[in-house]
Amino acid sequence: ALSIGIVGLPNVGKSTLFNALSAAGAQAANYPFCTIEPNVGVVPVPDDRLDQLSALVKPLKKIPTSLEFVDIAGLVRGASKGEGLGNQFLGNIRQVNAVLHVLRCFEDDNVTHVEGGVNPVRDRDVVDTELCLKDMETVEKRRERSLKNTKMGGKAGDEAKAEVALLDRIKAKLDEGLTVRAQKLTDDEKAAIQDLFLLTDKPVLYVANISEGQIGKEDSDPRVQQVRDMAAKEGAGVVVLAAALESEIQQLAEADRPGFLADSGLTEPGLNKVVREGYKLLGLWTYFTVGEQECRAWTIHKGFKAPQAAGVIHSDFERGFIKAEVFGWTDLVKLGSEAAVKEKGLLRVEGKEYVVQDGDCMHFRFNV
Ligand code: GDP
Repeated sequence: ALSIGIVGLPNVGKSTLFNALSAAGAQAANYPFCTIEPNVGVVPVPDDRLDQLSALVKPLKKIPTSLEFVDIAGLVRGASKGEGLGNQFLGNIRQVNAVLHVLRCFEDDNVTHVEGGVNPVRDRDVVDTELCLKDMETVEKRRERSLKNTKMGGKAGDEAKAEVALLDRIKAKLDEGLTVRAQKLTDDEKAAIQDLFLLTDKPVLYVANISEGQIGKEDSDPRVQQVRDMAAKEGAGVVVLAAALESEIQQLAEADRPGFLADSGLTEPGLNKVVREGYKLLGLWTYFTVGEQECRAWTIHKGFKAPQAAGVIHSDFERGFIKAEVFGWTDLVKLGSEAAVKEKGLLRVEGKEYVVQDGDCMHFRFNV
């Protein structure tokens, strides 16, 4: 499963956000290292299209697709040198596909700030520095191995020399504090270092964690502005939310949420934005299977062809793929039934080369 790791300094609200996300109820507490084990939560992806399809078809079951979030604790200044159990936590970042970086923008005298005061851009630099240092270590290890290989003759030796040169260049830039994702590597260069799973190579989404009192005033909040400016420079997204409030929202009964949201000045939970933006960050698309038994959303990567998309449901579907019947979700909602979609000639039969589109409704035909 694709996963997003939640990182940030201690006491910025990571666990609070994670708990809200997974509604798993792990304890949030006012001290560093309260979450020792990496926590994993599976979060449904809110999707209005699935809601509309289900409202029309009234299936027995409505099943959204999901995204995995991992709460990664223990990042502090010095983590790359093993400070505060740091090293072992950094390894947990290696396994995720993208990073959600939580930045504290809220003031609260009761919540200690490990760096001595609220300053989200500095906090981001502290974390990125640790990640860059760790990546330098990883790159150096690989460089030593490649250096040995340069002694080989012929093509292998030449390749090793090119690799050493590349690694030297990446390391020098990391040393200047430039993350790998900001280094604008070519596709070939990316492929050459892919198996290093460098921490600063992963796509990032920032969360500006504000206090309840700041809701509605984000645009005039200097700290939120600083975060937005910083993120814009690297082309990253920002979601502004109040993690503590998000956690309260999740504890409410479904029916009580709309009123509570309105009273808080929100149109939807901030978490929905986090999940949606995370999904986008990973380059993911959704297709639907629609039937009286169930309406269900499935996750694919952009560019998946029909057999690959079928394989998300079951590997047998991919192996025995014959063809797919496809129509757009809007056509079904507009026309009211699959029969009507067919009558209008909007149901297409597609083969193995069809690239599935975001929002397609699919029926697969396959051999067993
Ligand atoms: P972590 O160390 O980053 O996982 O931080 P936690 O989620 O454990 O939060 C640390 C403390 O900050 C807890 O006491 C939270 O209740 C508090 N906290 C988290 N988010 C907010 C927020 O939006 N506003 C305020 N005032 N406190 C928060």
